[in-house]
Amino acid sequence: MAIAAPEQLNVSELPAWGSRSVDCFEKLEQIGEGTYGQVYMAKEIDTGEIVALKKIRMDNEREGFPITAIREIKILKKLHHENVIKLKEIVTSTGPEKDEQPAPDGNKYRGGIYMVFEYMDHDLTGLADRPGMRFSVPQIKCYMRQLLTGLHYCHVNQVLHRDIKGSNLLIDNEGNLKLADFGLARSFSSDHNANLTNRVITLWYRPPELLLGTTKYGPAVDMWSVGCIFAELLNGKPIFPGKDEAEQIHKIYDICGSATEEIWPGVSKLPWYNNFKPTRMVKRRLREHFRHFDRHALDLLDRMLILDPSHRIAAKDALDAEYFWTDPLPCDPKSLPKYEASHEFQTKKKRQQQRQLDENAKRQKLQHQQQQHSRVPPAQQMRPGPNAPAQPQAAGHHYGNKPRGPSGGPGRYPAAAAAAGNPSGSYNNPNRGQGAAAGYGSAPYPPQGRAPPYGSSGLPGAGPRGGPNYPHGGPPYGSSGGGRGSNVVPGNRNQQYWQ
Ligand code: AMP
Repeated sequence: MAIAAPEQLNVSELPAWGSRSVDCFEKLEQIGEGTYGQVYMAKEIDTGEIVALKKIRMDNEREGFPITAIREIKILKKLHHENVIKLKEIVTSTGPEKDEQPAPDGNKYRGGIYMVFEYMDHDLTGLADRPGMRFSVPQIKCYMRQLLTGLHYCHVNQVLHRDIKGSNLLIDNEGNLKLADFGLARSFSSDHNANLTNRVITLWYRPPELLLGTTKYGPAVDMWSVGCIFAELLNGKPIFPGKDEAEQIHKIYDICGSATEEIWPGVSKLPWYNNFKPTRMVKRRLREHFRHFDRHALDLLDRMLILDPSHRIAAKDALDAEYFWTDPLPCDPKSLPKYEASHEFQTKKKRQQQRQLDENAKRQKLQHQQQQHSRVPPAQQMRPGPNAPAQPQAAGHHYGNKPRGPSGGPGRYPAAAAAAGNPSGSYNNPNRGQGAAAGYGSAPYPPQGRAPPYGSSGLPGAGPRGGPNYPHGGPPYGSSGGGRGSNVVPGNRNQQYWQ
């Protein structure tokens, strides 16, 4: 597999990047709302090819083209792998588009810039949220193996993704899984000596070292997120759904045990260790908590969700775990069922619409009841006789709107782990031990040159925010909330200077 030399454009067969207009494409439908802006499914007019157009939001940019978009483009230009989303080209628009509002500040239109990606039918969160969705064991193994293969490739090429979560894992109807959204990614050097921001990775998937404020880290941060995804696939719902950083770290401690010097030398020196110091010491109980998982799945998960990042399993070793080499084997991606397109944006929207419909129906029913009620003579209203028809209860018992659970509610992936599997769909790859290398050819990974440093100085004040509980005075990321949905960055992440 070819890997671009640093700075090589690698798109020689394509029109020069940025030279074509977005008018070469017909937008079909919005499929995502990224931090940058909208993502559309679109058709290339000349060829009829379906692509995804990701608009780079420029409205908050005072200083020109957003640095995070530059990083994403740079990084994606150097990554070429079947499990990493392919950036095909960049297109521009010179005037405001039909669907665009005029700039509120009356500023001149600055032009729109779009990244053109290969189109993927689903993201993992959207797919998992489909009603009645049930992943089989070979399917989970198949997705996990692709996720690890793509991530291993990134790590070998010295790229940290820093926002691994379901909605950033895209899946097509051929069963291929690709890592996407490299907006928070960056190059790293293997000595881990550079200071990097700890304001990355969506809360529910964020590893303990970042929650404790480390600024020196490496690929292990992504492997924690992979562990969370893996457990979520097996468990049917997110495993650490914290509301804020404090709750997040305590949810982790509750299952993985409290962070102590014995199990994680140096942890007590991390900037926010004392802020999150547990009031009581909890022993690790991950194996008991997930005892219903298959033995090999549990062995692997146990090595992914290790508090001390230096002991956490690497993607390459995870690919060699027994889990992927015992029955039922990972299935051939092509044998997976094809589903109707499902992106998180759409499944969320559908759920909202359904909720709205339910509420309207409820309101109408209630109004109807009240109208009927008001037609009854007042005396009867107050004291129904023994034969009077029973009056409906006000909203509540009969008409109460049952609170809907969070999208990651129980049963989202019903008992996938217990599924008998699909041995017939399995494909037995005899090349054990080459798992990690599969797809990279037999040559060792070319030592990719480190990408140019991305303003490693950062901005003053780019550090954690203020507040009483934190060394810098406040929850490190403000109300990152967001949990699974958004990454931690409040507002426009392009305004952050990621390190
Ligand atoms: P992003 O801004 O990259 O996080 O994208 C937001 C959402 O848009 C994702 O969660 C996907 O559902 C959707 N999306 C992004 N890229 C693609 C693509 N290449 N194909 C299909 N959907 C995509």
